[in-house]
Amino acid sequence: MKPAGIYIHIPFCRSRCSYCDFATGLYESALAERYVASVVSEISAWREVIQPETVDTIYFGGGTPSLLSPAQLEALLNAVRKCFSVSLNAEVTMEMNPGTVTEGSLAAFRELGISRASFGAQTFDDRELARLGRSHTVADTRQTFSLLREVGFDNVSFDLIAGLPGQTLERWERNLTEAFALRPEHLSFYLLEVHEGTPLAAHIKTGLQPTPDEDLAAEMYRVMLERAADAGYLHYEISNLCLPGFESRHNTKYWTGAPYYGFGCSAHSFDGESRRWANERDLAKYVAMVERNTSAVVEDRRLSDSDRRAEAVFLGMRMMAGVRTGEFRELFGVDLRRAHADELKNFQQAGLIEFDGDLLKLTSAGALLSNEVFAAFM
Ligand code: SF4
Repeated sequence: MKPAGIYIHIPFCRSRCSYCDFATGLYESALAERYVASVVSEISAWREVIQPETVDTIYFGGGTPSLLSPAQLEALLNAVRKCFSVSLNAEVTMEMNPGTVTEGSLAAFRELGISRASFGAQTFDDRELARLGRSHTVADTRQTFSLLREVGFDNVSFDLIAGLPGQTLERWERNLTEAFALRPEHLSFYLLEVHEGTPLAAHIKTGLQPTPDEDLAAEMYRVMLERAADAGYLHYEISNLCLPGFESRHNTKYWTGAPYYGFGCSAHSFDGESRRWANERDLAKYVAMVERNTSAVVEDRRLSDSDRRAEAVFLGMRMMAGVRTGEFRELFGVDLRRAHADELKNFQQAGLIEFDGDLLKLTSAGALLSNEVFAAFM
């Protein structure tokens, strides 16, 4: 069995961004205290897999985990270390937002073993940040980044969003110039998705903000890949770039079928074989369930053989290194090249996929249209 990853969801933010549909709410210290106690209880009572194997990644996601105090983080890490065998060189990532940390808090997080910082820069344009309802400025991003470096973080990831309402290609290119100039070890980039029910969706409906231009977003993606290659970054996953050796070890588990166990509201888990389960999404209900000593799991699903095959293709192909068709045949007894001969031929002719020996890979053009490619395997 491959080593497992642990995900801990911290559902608090300083304010609510206009495009956000994550399971998060505003930070309140009393609620945060109760929540952390609940997650510690959930971890301590964990019995989902009989013999938990080695854990080599821990990921604090949210939300804004950097709003927690070092003492709260320590309580969570101690609970994980008590329940699992955490390897010495584990990658321990914390998501943070610019402006939510001080030199003192970062130094304390580092002291606790946080080895990787992932932070939501999103854009290097103050007008765009304001449009997104972000609670920070570009100056905060720069200051957080230099504090991270000062206290010794040598593995830092930025999130960037492309395709914002009113964003021009020129402004996006300026964002890229700024981001690459700082040389973070890792970059995750997303095309903005407008979710129903968010303030942004309402702003677009009422004309307060322009409708994002999908063709322009596609061009931004293409430009990003070009500029990233020039700057020495590897495009290792559809939405992720890194300097050599700095792939996210935790997120790679999601795409390669490794087990991961999620704690906290809305956290998802996978046993590495055929079972996926998920916790209650609502924070208050989650806390109430754990405080009543009942399981917070509200969805539990066994994957069929065909689910597992489809997952192995559409998750595996997110990695630009591709899927080994020989390994796939050994695992599932299906020859992808034969079973999907017509679709593969069409995608190959359209320049969306390519074969490299027995590796089946997306091309850069295919990465942008990945959902269409994956749908053929479902
Ligand atoms: S910081 Fe992230 S999780 Fe929090 S409201 Fe903004 S987008 Fe949502």
